[in-house]
Amino acid sequence: MKSLKAQLHGLADPEAELEILSERHPGGEANNFRTHLERIGLYPLRPTSLEVFQINLGKMCNQVCKHCHVDAGPDRKEIMDRKTMHLCLEVIRSLDSINCVDLTGGAPEMNPDFRWFVEEVRAIRPELKIIVRCNLTIILANPRFNDLPEFFKKNRVEVVSSLPYFTAMKTDSQRGDGVFDKSIQALRLLNQVGYGRADSGLVLNLVYNPSGAFLPGPQSELEAEFKKKLWERFGVEFNALFTITNIPISRFLEYLIRSDNYENYMEKLLTSFNPAAAAGVMCRNTISIGWDGYLYDCDFNQMLDLKVASADSTHLSDWNAKALADRSVVINNHCFGCTAGAGSSCGGATA
Ligand code: SF4
Ligand code: SF4
Repeated sequence: MKSLKAQLHGLADPEAELEILSERHPGGEANNFRTHLERIGLYPLRPTSLEVFQINLGKMCNQVCKHCHVDAGPDRKEIMDRKTMHLCLEVIRSLDSINCVDLTGGAPEMNPDFRWFVEEVRAIRPELKIIVRCNLTIILANPRFNDLPEFFKKNRVEVVSSLPYFTAMKTDSQRGDGVFDKSIQALRLLNQVGYGRADSGLVLNLVYNPSGAFLPGPQSELEAEFKKKLWERFGVEFNALFTITNIPISRFLEYLIRSDNYENYMEKLLTSFNPAAAAGVMCRNTISIGWDGYLYDCDFNQMLDLKVASADSTHLSDWNAKALADRSVVINNHCFGCTAGAGSSCGGATA
């Protein structure tokens, strides 16, 4: 067996990552994610009702963050086309159980059809929640993005944005030089049109993820601290802070291996396994759509190229709601990232 660092050569290569996650798991075969689910009667992991339709509009991004699980960046060419977007719209129209359309990337706004698509989704049902995972700096990256806050407002889009910390040093070390200052400018622009302001109905949520190989602290305490510091120092307001655990895949897995933190981090996730968080993992009510229309249980499985386990329905073009409802979720040891401590999902702590 090759050393962990030798295996790094293949990253971000889903096969190499899965080999590391399966074979180098500190708990070994007898204590892997599957056995943890078996012990609490949750294996096979079955979906509940499909509520969240999460769509990756492409891997292109104006940033290259250290812990990006998408391995996104300016040189990525994968972009969802209109044909695939039409297939998404058909599914959203056909399923009343879907109450949230969650747009991710890369920077989803860089998709040339982003605005057209948001308007089409909004036209389907007025009460449908539309979320955009906005990295903030995109608003200032080019004059053609400067009016995004008004566009979001017009289409009642909820904005969810990563902000690793309320200081420039910690934020820039994770997301790149100058990102903090630009993020604050963008947050002010969002506040100016009403986002994050009490009673405006325009939701602006922030996401915190740890800067290293440790789990996030309690969500409510961090939220209170972020609110106080961002208001006092910058006059910035937001609605809620979601804390998420870094999932050991892609650039974060590479970081863990390079810094000799892989075993310790996995051990930490394993010993913090929380059955309540396992019952609430987001893959149970979510389908994640790849930029090319393939279907996944979640965004993380998408990056590991683990398609849904449903022979009859693996792509939007052969969408079969019944077959998908009958599937089991594909799991591996990266899933310990969703079940550690208070749990972790795209919407923050789960337990
Ligand atoms: S902004 Fe988001 S998608 Fe872009 S590189 Fe950073 S983490 Fe990845
Ligand atoms: S990584 Fe994905 S499949 Fe695994 S528990 Fe988390 S959401 Fe579910």
